Amino acid sequence: MTPDRPAVVESAGIGRVRVTSYRDLRLLVDTYTSHLRDLGIGIGERIILEADVTAQSIAMLLACSAAGLTFIPVSPETPAQRLHSMISTARPALHVQPTDGKRDALPGGVGTARFDTAGITVVERPPTGRSLRREACVTDPAYMIFTSGTTGRPKGVVMSHRAVVSFYRAMLEYRIVTPRDRVASTSPLQFDFSLLNIGLALGSGAAVVPVAQQLVRWPRNFLRVLRETGATQVNGVPSIWQQALRYEPEKVAALDGLRGILFCGEEFPLPELRRIRELLPQVRIINCYGATESMACSFADVPDPLPDDLERLSIGSGHRGAELLLVNEAGHVIDEPGVPGELYLRSPALFSGYWDDPAATRAALVPDPLCPQSGQLVLRTGDVAYRGHDGELYFCGRSDSQVQINGNRVELGEVERRLLEFPGATAAAAVPLPHAASGTVLGGFVVVSNDAPAADAASLREFCADRLPSYMVPREIRLVETLPTTTNGKVDRAALISSAATAG
Ligand code: ADP
Repeated sequence: MTPDRPAVVESAGIGRVRVTSYRDLRLLVDTYTSHLRDLGIGIGERIILEADVTAQSIAMLLACSAAGLTFIPVSPETPAQRLHSMISTARPALHVQPTDGKRDALPGGVGTARFDTAGITVVERPPTGRSLRREACVTDPAYMIFTSGTTGRPKGVVMSHRAVVSFYRAMLEYRIVTPRDRVASTSPLQFDFSLLNIGLALGSGAAVVPVAQQLVRWPRNFLRVLRETGATQVNGVPSIWQQALRYEPEKVAALDGLRGILFCGEEFPLPELRRIRELLPQVRIINCYGATESMACSFADVPDPLPDDLERLSIGSGHRGAELLLVNEAGHVIDEPGVPGELYLRSPALFSGYWDDPAATRAALVPDPLCPQSGQLVLRTGDVAYRGHDGELYFCGRSDSQVQINGNRVELGEVERRLLEFPGATAAAAVPLPHAASGTVLGGFVVVSNDAPAADAASLREFCADRLPSYMVPREIRLVETLPTTTNGKVDRAALISSAATAG
């Protein structure tokens, strides 16, 4: 044990960093835990933790676990209406936010409190009742995360301590960082990617470097914080790199202390990935695939060098102790290479269920297709993939990302891949657009790099027409500066669809 080593390294303004050692973090966790216990909230009750990722909020979530309370991480940017709907669904005993948190006017019946380095200060006492619980156990919910809804309506994903610990153990076996590393975490607290980063860093004896959302959005500030905090590993969705690669490539190249990048959440556009490889040849890049329902399911190193003819990145196979299966529409396991099927995950790190939604839970946690007799449940991911010759998997898209265009089945990911082959294209999204006469037409949104030769919608359409059947050529093509993103930083397809509708 080296308690003086940094556990959390935060930017504290230009040129300044704040370091919290493992010892100080431990002390803060102990203080919060004892204050939580003093509140008399029963084991198993829920707490909304509304905060950015900071040393204090990390201590608070650890304290919740120590006190046997389920935390629900929420970002301060969450609209009031969404927060209120989470409260009415999850019925938490307490809402906690930092002392300088801006949230007010919460519905009655919920206790409220504030926290800082001194501990927890109660504003409105939480309701206390007789609890039947004596002990917290490993199958209790550690946390509940409301998904952002890019894969359907928001659902409360309940994860047990057992699932989280199994996932962390498996992740640590992939040997991503060492105690010498500093892991920049760029996701908001409500996105379980931030919990992955915290577990990765603290489980490895390394330091977490939380990067605030407003810094991630400005490439110059983002890169400055990475430099000033001495980050050696950067974890985030692919979009965190988009602006930096476009406007500050020399500053990206100057990150000579960086050793690793891990991305998760969506496919990395290959042209941007190639650019990162050129600018940061020393960096190991890991593709992490998975959903909130299991934190993540696989890790795969991106090949170095990237072959010129590479079509797709592999997502690898399940992490240690888990297995990813491909299942066809008849429910049979697919073994041959090249045949697409739905990904099913057999794992000890599965979520327990969707909060108060048994029908949705039954649809996602299904009998193991390999051995339905065992009673064991597995996760139906809703994602489509196929196997390569060595058994490695290739992600093709969500099973619901297939759309019908004039009676033809179109895989949106396929259209995106072709758009990305356009010279100078760095990112692309294909979306179905409602159309009065034709029902649905395809829309293509493309980002082209600043130094590429002049491009327009007509040249892009011609490019697609040479490479795709006519029904797959987007009817609406737009060149855009950037693709809009959700609060979790993934491409916001709903925003693209409504932007096309507004523009007429
Ligand atoms: P949300 O629905 O809130 O976006 P998730 O983060 O759980 O929630 O989304 C998980 C989905 O993101 C996966 O089912 C998959 O479709 C996609 N995804 C995650 N990681 C990757 C990856 N490395 N490559 C491609 N797609 C990914």
